[in-house]
Amino acid sequence: MRLLTREGFWRIVGRLVLATGARGLPITFKSGSPSGNEAVMGDEHKIRIENSLEWECPPARVLGRGSPALRLETIAVRAGAEIDPDTGALAPPLHLSTTFEHGPASQPIHGFLYVRQKNPTQLRLEGALRDLEGGLAALTFSSGMAASAAMLQALKPGSHVIFSDDIYIDVRNLVHDFLPSWGIESSVEDLQNLAVLKRALRPSTKLIWIETPSNPLMKILDIQALGGIAHEAGAQLLVDNTFATPILQRPLTLGADIVLHSTTKYCGGHSDVQGGCLVVKSRELLDKLLHVREILGAVASPFNSWLILRGLRSLPCRMERHSANGSAVAAALAASPAIEAVYYPGLRTHAGHEIAQSQMKGFGGMLSFRVRGGGYEALRVASRVKLFVNATSLGGVESLIEHRASSEGKISLAPPNLLRLSVGLEHPDDLIEDLLQALG
Ligand code: PLP
Repeated sequence: MRLLTREGFWRIVGRLVLATGARGLPITFKSGSPSGNEAVMGDEHKIRIENSLEWECPPARVLGRGSPALRLETIAVRAGAEIDPDTGALAPPLHLSTTFEHGPASQPIHGFLYVRQKNPTQLRLEGALRDLEGGLAALTFSSGMAASAAMLQALKPGSHVIFSDDIYIDVRNLVHDFLPSWGIESSVEDLQNLAVLKRALRPSTKLIWIETPSNPLMKILDIQALGGIAHEAGAQLLVDNTFATPILQRPLTLGADIVLHSTTKYCGGHSDVQGGCLVVKSRELLDKLLHVREILGAVASPFNSWLILRGLRSLPCRMERHSANGSAVAAALAASPAIEAVYYPGLRTHAGHEIAQSQMKGFGGMLSFRVRGGGYEALRVASRVKLFVNATSLGGVESLIEHRASSEGKISLAPPNLLRLSVGLEHPDDLIEDLLQALG
């Protein structure tokens, strides 16, 4: 009689599971390799894998939710990674279909109708982003700007929005160029000072919009305190979490209502895909945003969703290394006599260091610095780097340098001697040597 091998045994178990159509099987992680040590870990290491991809699932049935023992590293790897029920494939299937079979009276018999409403690959990404940020739901868009515009288009005309003063330049362009014709009023304030927010509130204020760390001055804003003030006034707090990612900062757990990402950056992580997302806590806002996205159409494509989902798998590891490299580069720059100031929240000298320490798990890979002298000296440094690449954007594996005053153009508030770095995953000593030779 042939003895059943360990692999054969698991294959049969797998077939039985498929044959019985079992869903939501608890997966037990074993210490050691799956084929080795049989010792089963405690219950807190069990996660429930669901085949359902719907965000409509009750929270307890969704991977990562209602399970405080599940760690972010695990969620990043497993959320939206439900095994394909048709093939058993571990890598998520990429569904490019724009249309889905429906019943004679348009009944969505398979749960989908048309790609602009929702598609299976995008739903996997949305499930993962929702679980990483800890929201009710995530909605993905074709870019960070599309997500930003959708959020503002979900407001009623007559609403007032307060933006913090140091935010991504094209959000500032959106505010100038589009909000007036949409009937939305706005103010721009330095929200490092809480009293400034209290003074700027109006009865019509519906939304406070912040970035922390901010772009490009790396200001740190107190999410919990700003959220408290916003709520007292009946407004909501949105945090653009692009720089920190949910691995370093989870604004919804600190009292924010909405998280925005340019997933083009760290979430994708490889400078090869564009996307955006909003993660929300409220059903009412979710319904409004779904309507805006479906009718105005700035949806995430299936392929882009697939790439971003793949990027999320390594996000915790990458953010750890980005943070270590960012800290090393910031410390080296701070010690250079050629530098006037370094803006990195991990430095004790940073004005927001204490708040950053309380609301972030690490300080990330973004920093900026001012070169002693002026704009000419800063451009000289940017033109002398050999390893850093002069390019816009951020969050990829490669290190970038940018003279923000040049790239932001007319309405830039960036000091002329400021250079922004997106510190990548190279060896920190190589990066530091490159910057020091450029400063020399
Ligand atoms: N938010 C921040 C902080 C950004 O840096 C960017 C782009 O650089 C955006 C939003 C807009 O994202 P996207 O370029 O994907 O439209």
